[in-house]
Amino acid sequence: MNINITDDGTEESNEKKLIKDIYLKCISKDDNGIEFINFKKYTMNDLLQAKEHRVHRQNCLIRDYFSPLVSMRINYPGIHKNNYTTFRIMKELCPMVINEFKNKIMYKNLQITAEGPVLTLVINENIYNIKKTTVKIEDGSIIGRCVDIDVYDTKGNGISRKELGLKSRKCYICDEDANICCRAKKHSIEEIEKNISDRLKKYLKDK
Ligand SMILES: [Zn+2]
Repeated sequence: MNINITDDGTEESNEKKLIKDIYLKCISKDDNGIEFINFKKYTMNDLLQAKEHRVHRQNCLIRDYFSPLVSMRINYPGIHKNNYTTFRIMKELCPMVINEFKNKIMYKNLQITAEGPVLTLVINENIYNIKKTTVKIEDGSIIGRCVDIDVYDTKGNGISRKELGLKSRKCYICDEDANICCRAKKHSIEEIEKNISDRLKKYLKDK
């Protein structure tokens, strides 16, 4: 982990700096709201628990706002989902998503959990328009494949690509349906990690 020295002389890792950047740019000009970030080593159990907590939080927000909710998370293998690559990808994609919905956003939040960085938005817009926009972002660049942008209706149900008449997403590596490769564990974690970091490098180079 690379360490930078900040203005106030304290040490700050590149990873923390990236998260702070995303937070200040996308969530709030004031970074007091960002919960202190620790990059602890998570377990498989933490991952399952984080998912449970997220779904609970989402349902509370949907109930409070009675509006559709968007959750963008990194699509990264294994249990170490908080790293330079995942944060750098989120730094590119979070502003893109926020820019698409702008003044329709009623609630926004960025959290670092065992699931990795999670952007949550509650949006005052037709759910199918939201889904179309998020699919456009997922398919719009080589790093779009590295995130899952879930869209939930006011009952808390996820909207699928199928409901828009679209095909399901393809695998990172081969051209197979992503669900099939995932279930069959067709590719190793190392192979997928390398594919993701290559995508990011190419994206930043061509930007
Ligand atoms: Zn595959």
